[in-house]
Parts: sequence; structure tokens; C-alpha cells
Amino acid sequence: MTKWAYNFGGGTAEGETGLKNLLGGKGANLAEMANLGLPVPPGFTLTTEVCTAFYDNNQSYPEELTDQVEASLAKLERETGKGFGDKANPLLVSVRSGARASMPGMMDTVLNLGLNDDTAEGLAKLSGDRRFALDSYRRFITMYSNVVLGMHHHTFEDILDTYKDDRGYRLDTELTADDWASLISDYKSAVKKALGEDFPQDPKAQLWGAIDAVFGSWMNDRAKVYRRLQDIPASWGTAVNVQAMVFGNMGDTSATGVAFTRDPSTGKKAYYGEFLINAQGEDVVAGIRTPQTLTKIAREEMGDLEPSMEEALPEVYAQLAAVFDDLEKHYRDMQDIEFTVERGKLWMLQTRTGKRTARAALKIAVDMASEGMISEDEAVMRVEPGSLDQLLHPTLDPDAPRDVIATGLPASPGAAIGVVVFSSDEAEMRAKGGEKVILVRVETSPEDIHGMHAAQAIVTARGGMTSHAAVVARGMGRPCVSGAGDIRIDYATQQFTAAGRVVRAGDTVTVDGSSGQVLAGEAKMIQPEMSGEFATLMAWADRARTLKVRTNAETPLDVQTAKDFGAEGIGLCRTEHMFFEASRLGYFREMILAEDEQGRRAALDKILPVQRDDFAAIFRIMGDLPCTIRLLDPPLHEFLPHSEYDVKAVSEATGLSVGALMARAEELHETNPMLGHRGCRLGISYPEIYEMQARAILEAQVVVGKETGTMPIAEIMIPLISSAKELEILAGKIAAVAAQIDGEPQYIIGTMIELPRAALRAADIAKTAEFFSFGTNDLTQTTFGLSRDDSGRFLPDYVAQGIMEKDPFVTLDQEGVGDLIQIAAERGRSTRKDLKMGICGEHGGDPASIEFCHRAGLSYVSCSPYRVPIARLAAGQAAINSI
Ligand code: PEP
Ligand code: MG
Repeated sequence: MTKWAYNFGGGTAEGETGLKNLLGGKGANLAEMANLGLPVPPGFTLTTEVCTAFYDNNQSYPEELTDQVEASLAKLERETGKGFGDKANPLLVSVRSGARASMPGMMDTVLNLGLNDDTAEGLAKLSGDRRFALDSYRRFITMYSNVVLGMHHHTFEDILDTYKDDRGYRLDTELTADDWASLISDYKSAVKKALGEDFPQDPKAQLWGAIDAVFGSWMNDRAKVYRRLQDIPASWGTAVNVQAMVFGNMGDTSATGVAFTRDPSTGKKAYYGEFLINAQGEDVVAGIRTPQTLTKIAREEMGDLEPSMEEALPEVYAQLAAVFDDLEKHYRDMQDIEFTVERGKLWMLQTRTGKRTARAALKIAVDMASEGMISEDEAVMRVEPGSLDQLLHPTLDPDAPRDVIATGLPASPGAAIGVVVFSSDEAEMRAKGGEKVILVRVETSPEDIHGMHAAQAIVTARGGMTSHAAVVARGMGRPCVSGAGDIRIDYATQQFTAAGRVVRAGDTVTVDGSSGQVLAGEAKMIQPEMSGEFATLMAWADRARTLKVRTNAETPLDVQTAKDFGAEGIGLCRTEHMFFEASRLGYFREMILAEDEQGRRAALDKILPVQRDDFAAIFRIMGDLPCTIRLLDPPLHEFLPHSEYDVKAVSEATGLSVGALMARAEELHETNPMLGHRGCRLGISYPEIYEMQARAILEAQVVVGKETGTMPIAEIMIPLISSAKELEILAGKIAAVAAQIDGEPQYIIGTMIELPRAALRAADIAKTAEFFSFGTNDLTQTTFGLSRDDSGRFLPDYVAQGIMEKDPFVTLDQEGVGDLIQIAAERGRSTRKDLKMGICGEHGGDPASIEFCHRAGLSYVSCSPYRVPIARLAAGQAAINSI
């Protein structure tokens, strides 16, 4: 026969420990605390299987349930020495939900159950406190009528308010026992009037009513929405916990409180919590009275006048502190606890692993490992890699109010405050004048780089997680909200509207790139703090991991930032980003606009020394770490002037007529530039561009090699290869350049694998390529046939309808794109056993994707500088997970 009910209390519990799936989180922990000999009010748990059976069988209970509840209740009566419905010595119970995963506040609870006209008088005599007994009874009628009978709370609140007004009372505490007695009678009349039936007086009927209500609440709308958001399956069901009531509202030696075994916001090893004397749990939560601190130190720190629990109830406090320690030792993690003191006796009502901030998670993990409570590997597993974001950038104070005007994608983390500007030139100009600016654009293009650099943060109305704005902002460490679709920008009038509000150029806004929110005005910020624990945990993660972590960076500032964050090389230097600076853009435009090869070469000759200096700067910072430098990738038209103002400026600088410029722009225009004349296709058409870049790289290498005595490690990477032949041709040209350079430059040549055909032809390609770097941005785009810049508009529908679990530009699609990676890895290695392989798409900084890279046997991941620590931790976890 299936066991549906499990009793606990009195130092033991039925069933083995750790039955969380069966007993729910609360039930399992109550049983576990009882087994540890901790003071837990006895009770019993109806299993989650009852819930599942109930919904599987047309909302009817398993046949044996009634008998099992009777037996459990009898046991509970024996344990407490009280009788359910006994007039002289009544047993009262709480009935609470408790699912496997915590669903705070989503389901129903009934307290003080078992009270009726008779037992309330019994409780009054027994406690010697009639006011307390009647107060409990009226609370029960209110709660039960609301939760079980479906009446509105305010029915009872209105009766109470009128009663108080009529008698000139202000606070509930002013009401006497007789007042409550009179109100109870009014409450019961209200129930009768609303439902046509008396308030149930039979405790058994009350109990079944409450059990029905709690199981019923599993399917309420709130719970359903919460489950959907948290990925909790409906099939898990909830358990129901029936537990003897203990009372924190029995006078001045009674109390109730909540506590954490360590500070959940800082992680400090100090008991943290609050309590109220002479109160029930709901009073602490309801915020009617201001709770007192737990410890003397906390009281002194906060300058509180009311005594702490340590001072007011020293003996119980000492007991509680001992329980905290026992629980931490047992669960080996910080606990979140609810307790009640009834006339000087401590009772534990709940324990669970406590939620905490990233900062606290880090400190607690490192401290617990140092205390010997957990291993260093476990400490590494305890911190969610993505949460490190909170520690690396200034962030918004989570407790401060937020006036949200628009929401988009959380494209690049961190928060910033500034005044709105709508053009990159203005951003640069105002930033030079010392202003902090937020660049707001419909979308950004390479021409906006200087504005993005000058801005504190970037907001775009269009574009996804791998849009130009998102990729560049992440690389620069600028917070960015992309694809904020509610924003309507009007460049002409220099303003945008969102949610019916108008924001003008010069207005102050706050951008939260971690949540994707744009807020009006100046929100409160917290600065990052790289504490000692950060370095310690990183060192433990580094020791565990086998994947190397490199960075995607090209400016000396970004390269240095990444190195400081622990990058072990550059995995992707996007050389096109080096041309966007105003001074270089001119030369580059000259090159594109040149009418023949000779003209192009002349322009390239001017770019060569600039590029050489760029590469030398990077080599100097990276020292003996490998640097993968990718030759030019983007479509040429991106470099052409777009605005009238720009066209005029270029015309003046080059001497070409505006008409000629427009004609050339027209000529270069592509219907589908992402699939057009970009990547190695440019090198095939204009080999002189790649030859110049190869020369710049290798000459810089020789210069820095001589200067420092260490030859920089140069890895030249060709983008967007789809056939071995392309690579062969280009590698040949680069070899010819290398042969002309004095000082014996050394390099290896490799390719991005970012097209499905390249993945499939990997065996062939590896004949020339000495390394592969998976460009999963383009590989995702081309595998799905999904534009990386436009998909933000409709991908949310795909995720909402469960067609895709996550945005594949954020988290690698392991089934499809991942398969191609595995195929390429296998085929590549079949040709070249020691083929070095990494990933440099945006997925290189995503923890779930990093886990995949570890399993796929790649040698490294490469990500934007601010993600380097996240990747180090995720790689450490992937290695520990696979042990
Ligand atoms: C990629 O496609 O994944 C990649 C890294 O290149 P880019 O984002 O520059 O196209
Ligand atoms: Mg690419």
C-alpha cells in the first residue's frame, strides 16, 4: 500500500532523510530537523504524490488517504498530549503547502486550525490568556474564510475598522478580549450572510477544507505563472504539511522571528535576522510592527533602541545560536530559518538554503571552504558564474526605487547614468567637455564607434544580443540595452518617446544593462569591489579547469582590462574595429574608393604603419601569450559615409565629388550584406588588403620581439572560409609576405569555422589551417538561416511558445550548431591530430555554452574582457562537473 502521510517530531521522522521530491522542501527539512533532534513542533506531511494522484484522478484523493490522515492525526495527538477538538486541551495545527522547489507566497496557508467556539474557550483557560485565545480565533476565521471559503479579506478588515472607529481605537493591541469576542460574532454573521452556511465548527471538516485548499492552490493562476517563469513542472505537485501550532504571541517570553545563519547580502559570518516579541509569524512579514535585531552587535550597528534577542531572551538566543551552527554543519550551507519561542521554549518552524547576493555567495563559499566545511571544488560550484557580473561593474542598488521607462535586451551588463544624446558626434563632443552621456540610437553602425566609446552606456531601439551595439558594447565594457522596441526615436526633434513619456536630448537617464531597463533620472548605484575572496575563488576555479580562457579585444585598453581579469591570450582581435576611429577611417575610405589596385595600394601604404603600431601595442601587453588576429571581415559598404554631413566631409578630404561618392556607395550596396562581400571574400577580391594586414602583424611581431627579447605569438586568422581552396590561396599570399620580412617572423595560420560548409569540409580545410576558431555568431546565423541583427524581433515568440528553449545567439544551440562543431572538430582532427580549437562567438562567455565547449574537447573559449572571470569560473565548474 502506498504511504501517503509521513509523521515527524519528537526526535524522529518517518522515511529516510532527503526525501525532498516526495515530501517537498519544507516537509523534508522539517523531517530532517526532527531527526537531528532539533525542537520541531510535531506534525505530518501529505506527500507530493497525493497532489499528483489528486489531479490525475479528476480531483479525487487516493482511497486510503482518509485512514492515513486519521492515523497520523492520532499519532500527533499522542505526541503533543492534546486532542484535536478537545474542549479542555485542544490541539491546533497549521496547514501549509511545500513544493519541491521553493515558491514563496504562491500557495495557501491556514494557521490556528482546530479553533471553534468551544476550543477557543479551552485555549483561553489553558493559556490563562483569554485575549490571546480569542485573538487567535478571529485570525483563524479571517484566514480560513479567505483561503478555504473564498471570501474577501476586506470583508473582515472593514468590520474591524468600523468597530475600532466606533470605539476610538487606533491599534489592534488596544482591543480587549471582550472586543474580540464581539468581533468574532460579527465575523461569523458575515460568513453566514455571504455563504448561507455557518462557519465550520467541526475541526475535522476544517482540516479537510484546508487540505483541499492547499492542494487546490497548486493550480491557482499565481502558482501557474510562477512555475512557468521558473521552469517548475506542474507534475511535481505540492506536499501539505500539517503541524502542531506553537504560539509566539503568548506574552513577553514568547516571540517569533526569521534569521539567516550568515549575512545574505554581504556574506559576513554573523547571525542575521529579526524577531518580534509577543507576535505571530505573519506580524513580522506584515510590517505592522518594526522588528528588533537578533544580535547585540547588529543592534549597536543599526543604532536600534529596542533590545536585541540576545539581550531580551538570552537563554533562548543561546539555544538558537547553537541550532544555527548545527544546521549549517548538517546542510553545509547558509540557512534561512523561521522560529518561534513559546513561553521561553524554542521551536524551529523551517530551514532552507538561503538565497544570497553574488557578493555574499562568493564570500560564503570561500569562508566555508577555509573553515573546512566544504571542499574548494564545492566552493567553486557554489557561485553562479553569471552572477559575477554584479561584482565587475557598477550596478544599480537593488533596494532603490526604479522609474522604468523602457525595457529591452540586457545586452551588456552594468549600469550607468548620463544625459541622452542622439548622435555619436555629439556624444564625443559632449564627453570631451566632461559630460557623461548615454547614446540612444535606432541601431548603431561602425560609424558610431567613437560615440559608443565616449558614452557611458548605449541604448538601441532595434537589434538583438549579437547586434553591432551589443557586441561592441560588451567588448568595451559599456552597459548596453539593445532592441528596446517601445522606444520611438525622432532624430529630427531630438527626443524619444516610450510608455507615453517624452525624453529629450540632455535629459538624464539611467541604463541598467544587466536587466535591460532604461530608467528616468538618476538611480542609486553601487560600485564594484574586487575583494580578496574574488581572487581566491578564481584561483580555485583556475586550478580545476582544463579549458583556457582568452579574450575578444582589439584596443590596448580592452586588451589590458582582459589581461587584468586573467585572459590567457587573445582569441579574436577584430581588425576592422581598428579602422573605425576617425583618423583611420579616412585612409580606409580612400582605399575603398580607389578606382584601381594601384590607388588601393597607395591608400593601404598609409594604413600599414598605423596597423603595425596597433599590433605592436597589443603584443607588448600580451607578452608571451598567444594573439589570434583576424583579418578584415565586414562588408565594405559599412565604411562608406552615410549621412549627408559625412559624405561632404569625405568629399572634401578625398577630392572626389559628392556624386562620385554616392555612385560608389550605390555600387557597393548589397541586398544581404551578412551573406555578401565580407570575410575572406574581400581578401579574394582585394588580396592587397590582407597582404597589408599580414605585413603589419609580422613586422610588429619582429619589432616587439627585438625590443622585449620575447617573440610575440602571432596567430593569423582568416574569416568566413567555406572551402579549403579559399584558405589555400590566402595562406599562400601571407606566406609570400612573410618571406619578404626580415627578422624571421613566426606565425601560424588558422580559420574561423562560421559557415556550415566549413564545418562539413573541416578535414580538407585542416590541411592548411593550423587552428580552428568557431565563430558561433555567424555559425548560428547561417545554421538557422536566422539574421543575427533582426531576430530579436521575433525570437521571443519562439521562446514563449517553447520552439526554442533560449535565444540561440546567447546560449549555444547544442543540438544543431553544437553538432556542426563536433563534426568539424572530429573531421579537423582526422587530418591534423594536434589541431588547436577554440570558440570566439559570443557564446564563449556564456556558462552553459562553456560547459559544452569543455565536453566537446575544445582547447579554449574567448570572450569579451568583462566576461573573462565568468568564463574562468564556468570552465572550472565544467571540469569539476565532469569528474
Ligand atoms: C562570429 O561570427 O562568431 C564571430 C566571432 O565573428 P563576428 O561576430 O565578428 O562576425
Ligand atoms: Mg563572424
